[in-house]
Amino acid sequence: MQFTDLKAQYAALKPIIDARIQRVLDHGQYILGPEVAEMESALASHTGARHCISVASGTEALLIALMALGVQAGDEVITSAFTFAATAETIALLGARPVLVDVEPDTCNLDVSQVEARITPKTRAIMPVSLYGQVADMDELNAIAARHGLPVIEDAAQSFGAAYRGRRSCALSTFGATSFFPSKPLGCYGDGGALLTDDDALAQAAREIRVHGQSGRYRHTRIGVGGRMDTLQCAVILGKLERFAWELERRAAIGARYDALLAGVRGVQRPTVRPDRNCVWAQYTVRVERRDAVAAALKAEGIPTAVHYPRGLHRQPAFEAMCADARCPVTDVLAGQVLSLPMSADLDAADQDRVVEALARATA
Ligand SMILES: *Cc1c(COP(=O)(O)O)cnc(C)c1O
Repeated sequence: MQFTDLKAQYAALKPIIDARIQRVLDHGQYILGPEVAEMESALASHTGARHCISVASGTEALLIALMALGVQAGDEVITSAFTFAATAETIALLGARPVLVDVEPDTCNLDVSQVEARITPKTRAIMPVSLYGQVADMDELNAIAARHGLPVIEDAAQSFGAAYRGRRSCALSTFGATSFFPSKPLGCYGDGGALLTDDDALAQAAREIRVHGQSGRYRHTRIGVGGRMDTLQCAVILGKLERFAWELERRAAIGARYDALLAGVRGVQRPTVRPDRNCVWAQYTVRVERRDAVAAALKAEGIPTAVHYPRGLHRQPAFEAMCADARCPVTDVLAGQVLSLPMSADLDAADQDRVVEALARATA
């Protein structure tokens, strides 16, 4: 059994993806070829955002968003303590300080009620994470940000396609930053990512930063990066979009089936999804006691699992000192209990039953 079944997905899409890739090989425009603009406009219309700027990875998307907003040394950016390192890493790379806020115990998303108390004169942005594929409390966060004149960057690396109060992840705040790492809900065959925004000036800034700060050929008006997504990867995404709506339905159905099957399993706490949004299940993550022993028992039965994430960022050596002010008791508990189960659009019912049965045995 695969944790994320990319082989079955490729088998289903092979004619479409192969033809898309062949077309790029035939025209030979590997950098900023026609598929790049085609994908950007497809993703803009999918999310409802005015602009889409494809970039080299999700990490690059976060970095370029912060650069476009002018975040620099000495600034502070408020974000979640319970996330992948890239979220806070991009802040630190610019010499700014990640101010880590604790999360809600049931959704594992930023506890928005704790944000306002952490705003200081140095705060330059707020960066919530839509963890596991469920959007955080964006409207409440946007309202706080607006009161303080701050931009909001949604780390939507795990939530492309998610719905929130009739809108879509990535199009809910100043910037949405997503990732096309192969195992994400919408993934390419290498690294890729995108920024989405409604703001014309910020979109232009992000486009320039992506190509070494050029506003014209060899006219470098700002400091940028080499941050483009290549044409072949955009072609893969265009191929995958052909089945993406079906995949989102499948993910929803598989998530609902996990919920139903695990309802009777006493030692397992299921993830919570708020009624005004959905989850695209980048991860289907439960909480269990003795997590490492449970993971080992599942592994012994041939069932792969993963831990997202084993420590809050305030407990990681690279961030410990700069985040010494973080008080994140909920994150500390979650980090010891979370366990992500196999999830992909092609996970079949028999395999899913095996996961649930093994988990029930291991937690009994
Ligand atoms: C995957 C991920 C990233 C980074 O994306 P890459 O494309 O791997 O650079 C950032 N934030 C979160 C929450 C992620 O899950």
